[in-house]
Amino acid sequence: MKEKILIVEDEKDIVKMLDYNLKKENFRVLSCGDGEDALKLASREQPDLILLDLMLPGIDGLEVCKSLKNERKTANIPIIMLTAKSQETDKVIGLELGADDYIAKPFSPRELIARIKAVLRRSRERDRLPEIFKAGDLTIDFSVISASVKNKPIELTAKEFELLAALIKARGRVLSRDFLLDNIWGFDKAAEIQTRTVDVHIRTLRKKLKSEAKRVVTVKSYGYRFNSEG
Ligand code: CA
Repeated sequence: MKEKILIVEDEKDIVKMLDYNLKKENFRVLSCGDGEDALKLASREQPDLILLDLMLPGIDGLEVCKSLKNERKTANIPIIMLTAKSQETDKVIGLELGADDYIAKPFSPRELIARIKAVLRRSRERDRLPEIFKAGDLTIDFSVISASVKNKPIELTAKEFELLAALIKARGRVLSRDFLLDNIWGFDKAAEIQTRTVDVHIRTLRKKLKSEAKRVVTVKSYGYRFNSEG
């Protein structure tokens, strides 16, 4: 089946160029010119990848990215941000908010297609985690739902384990508190008190991870990510 790509871009010439080049590569292409339509289309059409322009009328690309990653139905759709060269800091923010890659304008179609293919490949592999996961002194065995630090088993509650597994599966992407609440606790609209539930569980999880606690990184006023490096 052809993979479906959603282009979110208000500059018609760029849309045209992308549309032409993507179709040539055998992708199905959808497009829209603003963030609100992007959120609706992404949720309804479930594209395999979203090309998201940073500068959009109305809600900007970073907000759209954040909303997409917060919504269960769209959280796993990979996003490549399109931005101008001078926007290096936005790149960092974009990647922190869950974009999978970023490409600066002007770009060549060939470069973009290569990036798209790489991101699609990574996204297909993303859910395939090995049964045994290791990061530093931390070892997790997903097949028997157990964790150990320096070969000593640690006792995690079911929620703590799910939390840790979700962060590891995100492979470095930041998961927002709302996303974690929705996916692990099943709370639909997060109230302040519920948001704190995540923080409380993170705190106990860190305590149990001991020397590996540093791997659970706080992204201020947003959420958490897992650092598997070092
Ligand atoms: Ca634009």
